[in-house]
Amino acid sequence: MSGAGTTACQNDRVTFQGSGSIDTGNVSGGGGGGGGRIALGGGAGLLITIVALLFGVNPGELLGGETGQQGTTSAAAEIQQQLDACTYEMANENTICRIKATTVSVDDVWSDLMAGYQPPKTVIFADSVNTGCGAASAATGPFYCPADRTAYFDPSFFTQLRRMGGSDGPLAQEYVVAHEYGHHVQNLTGALAKGQRMGSQGPRSGSVRVELQADCLAGVWANHADDGPDALLAPISEQQITTVIQTAKTIGDDTIQGPGSNPEGWTHGSATQRARWFGIGYQSGDPNRCDTFATNDL
Ligand SMILES: [Zn+2]
Repeated sequence: MSGAGTTACQNDRVTFQGSGSIDTGNVSGGGGGGGGRIALGGGAGLLITIVALLFGVNPGELLGGETGQQGTTSAAAEIQQQLDACTYEMANENTICRIKATTVSVDDVWSDLMAGYQPPKTVIFADSVNTGCGAASAATGPFYCPADRTAYFDPSFFTQLRRMGGSDGPLAQEYVVAHEYGHHVQNLTGALAKGQRMGSQGPRSGSVRVELQADCLAGVWANHADDGPDALLAPISEQQITTVIQTAKTIGDDTIQGPGSNPEGWTHGSATQRARWFGIGYQSGDPNRCDTFATNDL
């Protein structure tokens, strides 16, 4: 978190400062695995238990059903080409470059905060992708696969998110990346496995605790992302935080399910809870404050 004195010329579209190429070998273009019907790898049910989704859809409904368009190897190559050309300047304009730059920022923050932190991989794909957790389509939304320690993003999700009422502000998109990296942190701490043992649905389920903790960890990232003059992110403005809260509320279970939403079916927590836990992480900057397993006051 930066101190007071965010300058008047702060442009809410700009988050990355600095220039030049984005130095990471951990982000690649993907998709295009296999033709025809999407097949589950490693046995049906595996993916359902180990993939943490950003918002409340049941992957069982998405996988092995309508396959839609298959990604192609040329799509993957095209994404890779874009990734190779990314600079920090481009990260303020281009979603693919923004995802790439954000991974560097999130890795920097967690390397400082967590002993033994090892960066995950990230794959940016179009349409469909094969993962260590089975096949997934764009309809799955962003997710993290613990089996291959990789976060997966289809940039078209951000268009869908905007249609749902989310913000398309840069920090709001960066929050989505930081949330998935939060699942990687949870994979390293054991919280992800713990949550999966504690059930996948209900207001105090393991799934809801895992998801709210990932929101809190994303907040911790935002707190530190603009620390110091050499930070990759320019000082974060209150207005930018507002865009994150808007998106967090858009993907609350009650928002997605609409009026009459039954908490017994929740997997990610309510709009209020998601915004609240992001705020706890952002205000404190302390991952220890993100223990959603230690309280029933979620
Ligand atoms: Zn999640």
